[in-house]
Amino acid sequence: MNSKKEKIILTQIKQDFTTPVDAISDYINLIIDGSDIYDDEISEEFENIKKSAKTLRVNFNEAFLEFAETKRKKINSDEEASILRHDLRTPLNGIIGYSEILIEDYEDDIDEKHNEDLSHIIDLAKEIEGAISRFVEFLKDGARSIENEDDSNESADNLFSSLGKIEYKLEIIEEIKNAKILVVDDIKTNCDVLKRRLESNEFIVDVSMSGKEALEKINQQKYDLILLDVLMPEVNGLEVLIKVREQYSADKLPIIMVSSFDDVESISKCIQLGASDYLSKPVNSTILAQKVASTLERKALREREEQLLSELHRQAITDEMTGIPNRRYVFDILEKSFLEIEKESKEHFATAIFDIDHFKNVNDTYGHAAGDEIIKKVSSIATSVISAPDIFGRIGGEEFLAVIFNNSKEHLQQICEKVRSTVENDETLFDNQKIRVTISGGVCFTDESTSVSDMVNKADERLYLAKKNGRNKFYLNEGE
Ligand code: GH3
Ligand code: MG
Ligand code: MG
Repeated sequence: MNSKKEKIILTQIKQDFTTPVDAISDYINLIIDGSDIYDDEISEEFENIKKSAKTLRVNFNEAFLEFAETKRKKINSDEEASILRHDLRTPLNGIIGYSEILIEDYEDDIDEKHNEDLSHIIDLAKEIEGAISRFVEFLKDGARSIENEDDSNESADNLFSSLGKIEYKLEIIEEIKNAKILVVDDIKTNCDVLKRRLESNEFIVDVSMSGKEALEKINQQKYDLILLDVLMPEVNGLEVLIKVREQYSADKLPIIMVSSFDDVESISKCIQLGASDYLSKPVNSTILAQKVASTLERKALREREEQLLSELHRQAITDEMTGIPNRRYVFDILEKSFLEIEKESKEHFATAIFDIDHFKNVNDTYGHAAGDEIIKKVSSIATSVISAPDIFGRIGGEEFLAVIFNNSKEHLQQICEKVRSTVENDETLFDNQKIRVTISGGVCFTDESTSVSDMVNKADERLYLAKKNGRNKFYLNEGE
């Protein structure tokens, strides 16, 4: 048997051992974290399980180092094999024993969820039993003992690093509280442990046990973060990553890859494909919480930046008092649209300037605040008549400009008449006083203008004519 194959088998055995041991540690830590509801007796049993799990890990790692990695020790007889098996199994018996005692003797005193966790722990311990047997058989008989095992998992060259559990409470900033996270992993225990861990940090967690289902969920719901296993049957994690990135950028939907492939190549591959970060299995709960929080914080920060920018942009183009487009925006649109006609990508259109009649009198008679109400009222009336893509904005105190993307005199006539008559017939109630105003207007079309300023000047001249000829009217040319 070649050493590469041996290495692969041993790596697999080690992984078959460490995965359930880590899961047991996670379960028991979760129980202990939430166990201040229990009396001393019960708490002590939980601690015993924790201690046994720790001993189990230490003993196995030591045996693995001595018998497999350095080969300082050898199994020479059946008797030696059974001694090693016995030594490794002792703490395992502790885990199973204490869990069974708790379930049998204290069932009614223990939270239902914790009872379930204890059953999981027993199942996981039985899995470990299998891994220990395979390990000892392998040491005794070499590859023959495992020849039929599936050894296709060549890359599972797991650098196991047990950092131990650090007492650690994560600070969760307000913006990422209740963030929605999708955990994708084909192994139920992994999903379960990640879900419980994340939920204890107040995140909302959804679980998917296949790549296909994950993609469906992502299409249907909005998530803030995905924790994605790399190795999955059918649609694997990298394929899911690629598909998600076709639709969402890393800023919109960050993805943290979770895998035992912690070699440099696959990490850089994932990052190249758009993963935000990377967690290696077995997942350390502190690193998990920190990476999840920092990724979510980054996303929240980006979103806040975007909101601020779009708010700044909105403010820059909006008239504060009325909430309608301001002078800068209206003139920008005029300039752009005028250029587009010259490039023949836009049809001719029209502009209309409106001005409230004798507005000074409104201020003088009813006060400045009443004047403001009138300006708002006229804005809202005109905005209800003139809608996108047409634009109506405030370009001065009581002066407004409309850009109407239509070159028909009838259409302009209609729109201006509607605004004029609605304003005329409207009444604003201010301080128990009924205020009525009228407006005048001037229209000009692009096909009679050489430039934007020429067009605006012409419209202004026609407005002046309307004022001169009695107000409460609008002119489309110098004669009417
Ligand atoms: P005309 O019919 O010829 O347009 O007469 P007018 O009184 O409406 O025109 P004029 O330009 O003489 O006066 C406009 C007044 O509008 C002067 C200014 O104090 C007032 N005004 C400008 N901006 C505001 C504002 O934001 N609020 C209020 N209440 N008044 C404003
Ligand atoms: Mg006026
Ligand atoms: Mg004026």
